[in-house]
Amino acid sequence: MNSSETALLDIDKIREDFPILHQEVNGRPLVYFDNAASTQKPKVVIDAISDYYQSINSNVHRGVHHLSQKATDAFEASREKVRVHLNAAEAAEVLFTKGTTDSINLVANSLGQGMIGEGDEIIVSQLEHHSNIVPWQMLCERSGAKLKVIPINEKGELRMEVYADLLSSKTKLVAVNHISNALGTINPVKEIIAMAHEKGAMVLIDGAQAVPHLAVDVQDLDADFYCFSGHKIFGPTGIGVLYGKRHILEAMPPYQGGGEMIAEVSFEKTTYAGLPHKFEAGTPHIEGGIVLGTAIDYMNSIGLDAIAAYEKELLEYGTAQLKAAFPDLRIIGEAEDKTSVISFLIGAIHPYDMGVILDKLGIAVRTGHHCTQPIMQHFDIPGTLRASFAFYNTKPEIDKLVEALKKAVAMLS
Ligand code: PLP
Repeated sequence: MNSSETALLDIDKIREDFPILHQEVNGRPLVYFDNAASTQKPKVVIDAISDYYQSINSNVHRGVHHLSQKATDAFEASREKVRVHLNAAEAAEVLFTKGTTDSINLVANSLGQGMIGEGDEIIVSQLEHHSNIVPWQMLCERSGAKLKVIPINEKGELRMEVYADLLSSKTKLVAVNHISNALGTINPVKEIIAMAHEKGAMVLIDGAQAVPHLAVDVQDLDADFYCFSGHKIFGPTGIGVLYGKRHILEAMPPYQGGGEMIAEVSFEKTTYAGLPHKFEAGTPHIEGGIVLGTAIDYMNSIGLDAIAAYEKELLEYGTAQLKAAFPDLRIIGEAEDKTSVISFLIGAIHPYDMGVILDKLGIAVRTGHHCTQPIMQHFDIPGTLRASFAFYNTKPEIDKLVEALKKAVAMLS
């Protein structure tokens, strides 16, 4: 590794932070290229989970006792870390959820209680993960609203001229991802948001694939909602975030009822708690919320700009090596603006067969439709092989992928 970007990061040292990477799979050193599905956890995150249960485990927001106060302070301190990370105006706009899917369902279910109805339109894109399609379809079925779709071009980019035509005074909400998990396309979300706002529509950005790779500023984007998952940013599973602008969250009815989300309960009438608790019914994922803060600290200790620069280098290197090695390579998704995801096919070989052979050689990639069947329908393919890189991956690992693919091609052709 000799380029200036790589010089910013000590990859060997970073890899030492991730115990899981130092193992053999099927007798070969593990090469983990399934980061878009879930990232590995640094030791500080693993230790923080254990520390929580060994030192402050207790329910939050309820007890006057020492442990409960400690747990509450740590949980709320983590909310503040998320606020700073996203540059939200206030911590009350940061809701803890189970993850991106849960965040989107929260918004869809809440808006579905009278804020979106017959005659209204919701716009999604063809680049969406199923979790940013199905909740809106369900809402449309229940409410009589209509779903409109921004198509993509052959590079896997949104067709912004069609988006402009789809927007109208009927549009109530636009829900698009910041970065496509299947293709790596970085969408022009600031422009998408500004265009929607001109028509008076709200915008939800699915940031599941952006927060692991880029600095996100929700105020600069002017996003109405922004969500992401902890497990994709080197943190625990089962925890995620929904950011929402205060005035919108305040106008929205609660999604779930229960403890924590109330001000006063009687059989005649229940009043609800203020933000963020109105949307956090029941005991939250306390350890997950706290350790999400640890994961954010870890990413910041490496540096978001250095991460983005190094991952770009991996993307360019990987793309060039694959193109040079396989004349019949087809990269699906060649957007001008892209993160470290390479989705591809080689000749007529089924991606699943290739994935099985790569696994035998210790290499973890993802095969299939990546929960984005409309993208596969657009390209008229059953799925792809997807290698997705994180900052702990290396160029020698990419070389191993290329060598393993050569073996797989020789076996399957
Ligand atoms: N949106 C995008 C773009 C994703 O990549 C994913 C997961 O792959 C999701 C949503 C769903 O995330 P989760 O399963 O963590 O809720």
